[in-house]
Amino acid sequence: MNTKGITQICRPNFRYEDTYHFPTPRPKRGHIEALVIFDNVRVPKERVFMLREWQFAQYVAYAFAAFHRYTAVTYKIPIIEYMTGLGMIAAEANGVQKASHVREQFINMIKYTETTKALAKAALMDPENFGETGLFVANRLSSNMAKLFFASNFHEFVRDIQDICGGLLVTQPTYQDWEHAELKPYLERYLGGAGKYTAEERLKLMSMLHHLVASDFAGWHEVCTIHAEGSFAAQKMMMMAEAPIEMYKEQAKKIVGLSV
Ligand SMILES: Cc1cc2nc3c(=O)[nH]c(=O)nc-3n(C[C@H](O)[C@H](O)[C@H](O)COP(=O)(O)OP(=O)(O)OC[C@H]3O[C@@H](n4cnc5c(N)ncnc54)[C@H](O)[C@@H]3O)c2cc1C
Repeated sequence: MNTKGITQICRPNFRYEDTYHFPTPRPKRGHIEALVIFDNVRVPKERVFMLREWQFAQYVAYAFAAFHRYTAVTYKIPIIEYMTGLGMIAAEANGVQKASHVREQFINMIKYTETTKALAKAALMDPENFGETGLFVANRLSSNMAKLFFASNFHEFVRDIQDICGGLLVTQPTYQDWEHAELKPYLERYLGGAGKYTAEERLKLMSMLHHLVASDFAGWHEVCTIHAEGSFAAQKMMMMAEAPIEMYKEQAKKIVGLSV
């Protein structure tokens, strides 16, 4: 990081711990984006992976993508697990968890989360010896399918959570209002939760959900889902390159009796 010639232009992280949101144990921190500039930087020899070996440039980029696509989908799994949980308890706090259309949304959320997990697990369980190097990578076809499935369906997943939460997601009073001695009794009375949820618990939940699906961070998250680790087209190109297309065609020819 301190090497001469390196400049990092950092974009600040989105704060959750501000005066508007209810304090929660997590998140403790977010991550920071940086544009890293290398201007005449001396790279020690042990860090040089390729020197004038342009023939391998595509191969190295391909190897990077093989790992990166897999990490893309696996680091998202805990996030969509807790977002599914938040959507479900938001329904309870709103008292709508038994409505048939809300249960349908629960099913969508489960389907999305568990299919993403199953595809990531399939990639891990079927590793490949990358270029016969002895370096194993998660299965590239399954990794790319997992990332494409995850990225293609995230916005619908968020939409279901937004629908379950109601407009309170964006009209909720802030934590400052909650802390205000005169206002608090009104909030306790008029924004009480259903069942065992108090007004404070319901608002705390909505505050976290505001951060996750209705804030500038939520927009960042949607874009990150699409573009981080490669856009949709990148995964589709990899699927065309990695799928056993010849095998599909051979099977079809056998069925029809073609010898072309
Ligand atoms: C939150 C976040 C974190 C990231 N972290 C990292 C990181 O840690 N390390 C890192 O190296 N990168 C990182 N990236 C960069 C990421 O890999 C790229 O954003 C991603 O590959 C998409 O490339 P792009 O942004 O240049 O968009 P583009 O590739 O320009 O995509 C925009 C559109 O153009 C289309 N397109 C692109 N090329 C062509 C073409 N030749 N013909 C036709 N259509 C085309 C795409 O399909 C897409 O529809 C991160 C990105 C985000 C959003």
